[in-house]
Amino acid sequence: MNRIDDISTPRRTKEIIQRYGFSFKKSLGQNFLIDQNILNKIVDAADLDKDKGALEIGPGIGALTEKLAQAAETVTAVEIDQRLIPILREVLEPYPNVTVEHGDVLKVDLRDLFERRFGGVSKISVVANLPYYVTTPILMKLLEEKLPLENIVVMIQKEVAERMAASPGTKDYGSLSIAVQYYCEPQMVCTVPHTVFIPQPNVESAVIRLKVREKPPVHVEDEAHFFEVMQASFTQRRKTIANNLKSRFFPGEGRERLEALLQEAGIDPSRRGETLSIEEYARLSSVFLKAGIR
Ligand code: SAM
Repeated sequence: MNRIDDISTPRRTKEIIQRYGFSFKKSLGQNFLIDQNILNKIVDAADLDKDKGALEIGPGIGALTEKLAQAAETVTAVEIDQRLIPILREVLEPYPNVTVEHGDVLKVDLRDLFERRFGGVSKISVVANLPYYVTTPILMKLLEEKLPLENIVVMIQKEVAERMAASPGTKDYGSLSIAVQYYCEPQMVCTVPHTVFIPQPNVESAVIRLKVREKPPVHVEDEAHFFEVMQASFTQRRKTIANNLKSRFFPGEGRERLEALLQEAGIDPSRRGETLSIEEYARLSSVFLKAGIR
């Protein structure tokens, strides 16, 4: 039997693209991986096994999908670009454990997909080289829907990965860090040079692993309220937390009640939102709720 090259080798990728006359759509974030090392690092970070499932978002021509098929029991890949579906069906034919679905992952009913595709597996992870134009909405959808996930291992823009993993008091720390860290423990896997993609993106990339927590690190009574207080605190980064919260929760009022509530939560009103930990936001939300501030 002839040994066929992996899909991700530059030679085979170019051959597939030419054979199908495929043209890249920048608007869909199409930058395909052509580097075995990086692909192996992504798959290793997901800690897959022959009894686990992987959901891939945006398989492209199947470079990562092929590696996932070799490492996991079941792989489902959701691709928005209809032109890639027949290509994927053909190049992934040697892997009967892969299913390709056509759709926009932001619109797909993921719970239903999980029930249909991952019935027999012990754990499920999302593994993807994400389209950069929709990274945050995709990740927030995965997290907010509280899907039964073990890990989310994604290649994303380096700057976004740094924001997700940032600690309080650093320049990258903000509402995205808190939202991600409420649901997951982030860990940077590696940074990635432009040269491993075709076409090459004009931003730097990184792989991040988000280990999904079994329960949040803090007790929050009302998640929507907690996120609203937290987001309001970052409305204008240069303003103090008291000034940001005043415009959202106490318009037209003096500062006394707000300052008393901040003190009750153990937070100095002159601090800025970027210095508060998740625990402090949880405490603040709870103090506001007790005082009827919504
Ligand atoms: N996984 C391939 C690789 O690593 O070579 C391709 C990655 S490429 C960065 C992103 C892929 O996501 C493209 O195939 C693109 O068509 C697809 N995509 C873009 N937006 C999407 C969406 N909303 N839902 C599903 N797939 C999407």
